[in-house]
Amino acid sequence: MNHTTVWSLAALPFLAMAAPGAGAWGCKGHQTVALIAEKHLTPEARQMVQQLLGDNPIDPKLKRWCGNATTDLMVDASTWPDDVRNERKNGPWHYIDIPRGQHKSDLAAYCGAEGCVTRAIEEQRAILKDKSADSLKRAEAIRYLIHFVGDMHQPLHAITNADNGGNCVPVKYLHHEPLPNSLHPERDDYSPNLHQVWDTEIVERDMEVSYPFRYADELHEKFHAEIAAWEAAGIHVENWAWESHERAETGVYDAFPEKIAIEPDRKLKSCAEDNHMGKRMFEKHLAIGEAYQASAAKVAQTGLAEAGVRLAMILNDAAKASN
Ligand SMILES: [Zn+2]
Repeated sequence: MNHTTVWSLAALPFLAMAAPGAGAWGCKGHQTVALIAEKHLTPEARQMVQQLLGDNPIDPKLKRWCGNATTDLMVDASTWPDDVRNERKNGPWHYIDIPRGQHKSDLAAYCGAEGCVTRAIEEQRAILKDKSADSLKRAEAIRYLIHFVGDMHQPLHAITNADNGGNCVPVKYLHHEPLPNSLHPERDDYSPNLHQVWDTEIVERDMEVSYPFRYADELHEKFHAEIAAWEAAGIHVENWAWESHERAETGVYDAFPEKIAIEPDRKLKSCAEDNHMGKRMFEKHLAIGEAYQASAAKVAQTGLAEAGVRLAMILNDAAKASN
């Protein structure tokens, strides 16, 4: 194999993740959220979840991006929505494009005709709460909720700077320079980019020798003192999206020493649009080193812990309603 072929194959996972708002937390992030939630389920919710997921197993023929070796039904469910993303055309459900610089207001303005993460969560909650709804639909609602509550706590799933949620922002990550997609250099699509690093690399590097089962324990312990306050605040999906948005302003964009200007709002079909957004951002030579990694890991940890606790709140609430 020549050099180009090797790179192209190696880049396939990145390419799959590099669609606008793609992926969200990588496998391990989503699995961690599911495991934190499990620690907070009421007995009724646990029973409801096990029953619905157990009675309606995931199609064994479905290609599972994160593997299917786990016996934990919630962990297995946590990554399913990404696996059916293309066949179900549910891409826009994974994020909400709130333009940078916006302040708290009604989110309906940013939720397009094809939907967004906050609306998807409300719709799937309603299905799960309806005990007369089809059992398969309710099982899928649980799978979507596990995934989307996680997704919305990835800060770049609640913001855009005319850069497709950071997908069009090439970054050097530690010692890895951003490279253009060799199959389609005209798309101005680079890897690593800001979105991809926040989905996966920051969390996975923070895990070091840990793994989702253990990392969930570690985060649960670390945020112990805050959990009661998160629970007391109740279920407010729109507030959670705004918190995530604000966290993206301060913890993602403003965490670089270089100022990244607020761009006029635009949705790009590719990073080559808007006068070569990808290339323009590449020329800023943004780099994530140890200092950014450390501050970003704290932000990501908080999001994962909150997502787990809040997911449990949603499932506990649904179990109450369906008894
Ligand atoms: Zn997702």
